[in-house]
Amino acid sequence: MIIVLRSDVSQEQVDHIVDRIKKLGLTVHLSRGKERTIVGAIGDESARIQESLEVLPGVEKVMPILKPFKLVSREFKPEDTVIDIEGIKIGGVQLQVIAGPCSVENLAILQETAESVKEAGCGLLRGGAFKPRTSPYTFQGLGEEGLKYLKQVKEKTGLPVVTEIMDPRDIELICKYVDVIQIGARNMQNFRLLTEVGKTNKPILLKRGLSSTTKELLMSAEYIAAEGNDRIILCERGIRTFETAVRNTLDLSAVPILKRETHLPVIVDPSHAAGKWDLVAPLAKAAVAIGADGLLIEVHADPENALSDGVQSMKPSKFSALMDDLRKIADAVGRSL
Ligand code: PEP
Ligand code: MN
Repeated sequence: MIIVLRSDVSQEQVDHIVDRIKKLGLTVHLSRGKERTIVGAIGDESARIQESLEVLPGVEKVMPILKPFKLVSREFKPEDTVIDIEGIKIGGVQLQVIAGPCSVENLAILQETAESVKEAGCGLLRGGAFKPRTSPYTFQGLGEEGLKYLKQVKEKTGLPVVTEIMDPRDIELICKYVDVIQIGARNMQNFRLLTEVGKTNKPILLKRGLSSTTKELLMSAEYIAAEGNDRIILCERGIRTFETAVRNTLDLSAVPILKRETHLPVIVDPSHAAGKWDLVAPLAKAAVAIGADGLLIEVHADPENALSDGVQSMKPSKFSALMDDLRKIADAVGRSL
């Protein structure tokens, strides 16, 4: 439930309220907004508990959260969450484009691609070191070697890096090298993995599952937030439909729906939705127009020789032209890029 505190609440009263909630066996999440402090209490929402909180000094009102997701809901936190990744902000007026190759393949290609996306105006670099491939016989990623390349390229370019995790046993290793941990579509409901990354202090990029609803995506985000990590970026990356002309169908309606339901930033990955590089630009433009907070785009310095997802990877020159077009659209919808 949400406990809205009076605007003149004292620190002593806040401490007492928090203490009472804990003693009642509920978990406390404090959210200090500009005007009001809101306390989220997760657990028993019975009338008895609500009444015992309503009487506490400093409490204005107690409201049950009707949605199955609580901490990530707009009810819990009405204002947008802005996630700061070493000065790069996701969720504010400025849009962020995260770009880079599907997989980290070698240092030279990663470096070349990183320089080009930085030049084009990207704030973050992506690259997979542990790859969730449909076939066990295709390139599975370089593992720790790939993570080392990401860190080296970050040191040279200054771009914070994003990489995917597939196994909770890799958390410590991945945290040593990268700035944002990605949970891929195939692991969106790997609840053990969600719980474990929720215990880290790294921002989490959570991609929507191939056959998951927006509500299920929010429930997965709630798993992460429930562990104390509320720095979560949601990503629409296309879902499975009967259409075969594209790899997945980009569900653009997910953007306004998620923005209505949650305070978390929402970005769009047109690359894995389209499956073809020439469809990426129109989908990216539509995503910015509909209100996405950013994009995740696969860019490769030499897509023809890429070890994964070359068909959907943009060449740096085409990507740079797209960024110029996106700037105009961002401007038209009151955002910057
Ligand atoms: C990726 O980002 O490289 C990836 C594998 O994405 P998804 O989990 O959306 O398929
Ligand atoms: Mn990919």
